[in-house]
Amino acid sequence: VAAPEPVKKAVPAKKPVPVGRVDTTSTGATKAEENKEEPTEENPGTPTEEDKPVEPPKFEGGDKDLREMIEKDMLDRNPTVSWNDIAGLPEAKRLLEEAIVLPLWMPEYFRGLRRPWKGILMFGPPGTGKTMLAKAVAAKCGTTFFNVSSATLASKYRGESEKLVKLLFEMARFYAPSTVFIDEIDSIASSREDSGEHEASRRVKTELLIQMDGVGSALEGDESKMVMVLGATNFPWKIDQALIRRLEKRIYIPLPDQEARVQLLKINMRQLSIDPELDLEELAKRLDGYSGSDITNVCRDASFVNMRKKLTGLGLDEIKKLDKAEIDTPLTKGDFDQSISRTNPSVPQDAVKKHEEWRDKFGAS
Ligand code: ADP
Repeated sequence: VAAPEPVKKAVPAKKPVPVGRVDTTSTGATKAEENKEEPTEENPGTPTEEDKPVEPPKFEGGDKDLREMIEKDMLDRNPTVSWNDIAGLPEAKRLLEEAIVLPLWMPEYFRGLRRPWKGILMFGPPGTGKTMLAKAVAAKCGTTFFNVSSATLASKYRGESEKLVKLLFEMARFYAPSTVFIDEIDSIASSREDSGEHEASRRVKTELLIQMDGVGSALEGDESKMVMVLGATNFPWKIDQALIRRLEKRIYIPLPDQEARVQLLKINMRQLSIDPELDLEELAKRLDGYSGSDITNVCRDASFVNMRKKLTGLGLDEIKKLDKAEIDTPLTKGDFDQSISRTNPSVPQDAVKKHEEWRDKFGAS
């Protein structure tokens, strides 16, 4: 079955530019106008007011300062991450497609029992690709993407966080279909016992719960109004139960396995040349326990080790004269030996265990 077309944002189509002869005699056109080159397909001529693409409508409601903050800090109209940029995680990709991408592509099929989830939680150790997945989902669906860091929300907008959450969802509805990605969602919605919670943070959490409840009912059977909440956390056990209940689908994003580590190495070294002797399978085995972000760091470090081999002992003037091709030598096992020896995995074993226990209790597949 052919893949259905994704739901496109309602950007008014550009008007076709008229091609063909225009009768100027009856319009009283001047000589200069008559001599103007006729528009052709290759050279459509100077666009007129009518031909200009119409700007999509802009949200103008709410407090101006807060609105501008959201537009500046959180609104990402064009997330560009693709599934192929993300190593491994086939299960997470499948679940996200099933939970977000497909309901937007074929809404009539996802009704009743199959109605989309209200919210989705991605949990797992840090640096495993949760943010990348959220961006890739938004890019794939063509939804407007709001990238909210709860930690920033709590500190930068202190006192206004509650208003901000409300306005954020108003804007998400305006620009729908939208994905609201809330990173570190545990810090906005930790359970009461853990946080010694004060009044302000309780109000933010309550506002988030209210907004999430409103997300489904605002649909009124029209999926183009869909607002999907996607949360991410490195500490799922800290999240308030009331919020966990609303994040109905919980997807575990684990550390990369062997296959994903090989892919990570390939993705990271896409633009570099590598020594044919360098065995990526063997290298990936040595990186067992490293997160995606750790492996990216190892690769970056190895590329610098490699560069330094060429530059050490040279003065700046000599370096300036070097041909780029001369410095750009293939990365070797030796470069990685050095970088691995000084980059430790950032995720402790017991943290992985804790995630797996939480997944067994609360995770969904
Ligand atoms: P998280 O949100 O889980 O903390 P991120 O998605 O922000 O992690 O990943 C941080 C960085 O680590 C990315 O920018 C990317 O360079 C790298 N990375 C992590 N996981 C992956 C992955 N699965 N595939 C490709 N790159 C990854």
